[in-house]
Amino acid sequence: MKYPNTISSKLPKVGTTIFTVMSALADGHKAINLSQGFPNFNVNEKLISLINQKMKEGLNQYAPMQGVLKLREVLCEKMEKLYGANYHPDKEINITSGGTQAIYSALTAVVRQGDEVIVMEPAYDCYVPAIELNGGIPIYVQLKSPNHTIDWNDVKKIISPRTKVIMINTPHNPMGSVMTVNDMHELEKIVTGTNIILISDEVYEHIIFDGLKHESVCKYPRLAERSFIIFSFGKTYHATGWKMGYCFAPENLMTEFRRVHQFIVFTSNTPFQHALAEYISDCDDYKELSEFYQQKRDFFLKQLKGSRFKFTPASGSYFQLLDYSAITNEKDTDYAVRMTKENGVASIPTSVFYHKPIDNKLLRFCFAKTDETLSKAGEKLCGI
Ligand code: PMP
Repeated sequence: MKYPNTISSKLPKVGTTIFTVMSALADGHKAINLSQGFPNFNVNEKLISLINQKMKEGLNQYAPMQGVLKLREVLCEKMEKLYGANYHPDKEINITSGGTQAIYSALTAVVRQGDEVIVMEPAYDCYVPAIELNGGIPIYVQLKSPNHTIDWNDVKKIISPRTKVIMINTPHNPMGSVMTVNDMHELEKIVTGTNIILISDEVYEHIIFDGLKHESVCKYPRLAERSFIIFSFGKTYHATGWKMGYCFAPENLMTEFRRVHQFIVFTSNTPFQHALAEYISDCDDYKELSEFYQQKRDFFLKQLKGSRFKFTPASGSYFQLLDYSAITNEKDTDYAVRMTKENGVASIPTSVFYHKPIDNKLLRFCFAKTDETLSKAGEKLCGI
């Protein structure tokens, strides 16, 4: 069957995401899948039982549009405890169906036709389509090698009277880099006295290594007053398939967020919200997450001793970049496919996170996997 008229695509350059493509390729070739970012170990048993219990208790109908109050309250307390930030549970937080939906809702709330949105490249793949669907114009600035840092002079140069939003992401996917106190001060200097809004993607807030501290924009009042801050339960509780997240913003921004949020999704999964509220109120196991993942990162890198890959250990997130320039001159997109087929390990080519193809010979590997999986992958990678 065919729709009789030709429709003109709203996202003509967008195909199936690289995550779907590489995961399907990994399945088809029985390769170890270190491409898509998801853990292959299970969620805490207590949390699963709580969800089950909440369902049995009959908490299965629509939750309030803003999210279950108890969950909003415990998350506000957490923000206070961790970052000293004060958010009002009624007016300044909304539970969402994942970080992606929160990002989409925030952009939709504020971006109009012709508005410019500054995006640091490489950029997580949902940012640009969400900007473009809202008529916004992505303006790109590239992170600087070798440590994938932000050159704030580059950012200053591209600010214009039409700059509506700056998007930041720390810890960073795919580069595994983190923003520092100095970055936050530079950002403050740039936005103070302007109407620029920030969207700060902090879904990996609890995955940060080597004694570094997560610098949330909420710690900086001059940033927090203009920021939507995005978090995801998927990353913190090893449950990417739940698609549960939340967004903090000052009241005036949150009011606009809710205006669109209620017609994009209205509300999110009820029993999960009740279960998470109870779980988080008596357990702060997220504090152990950095150590847990640092061990995974170190274990993975130890497996690569003697391999021909070069690397700098990731500072945050659960992704490790490997430089394969000593192995082949192929483009990363070609090599990622060949490695999956011939060597049995799937990864993500980092060039797909740029609007123009670049050739930096870096592949991204997800180390949120059991030691057994990482050790098998290491063996295969060392054989190359
Ligand atoms: N931002 C970044 C940087 C991510 O890596 C991800 C998930 N891969 C998201 C947002 C989306 O989170 P969620 O799965 O909760 O939609």
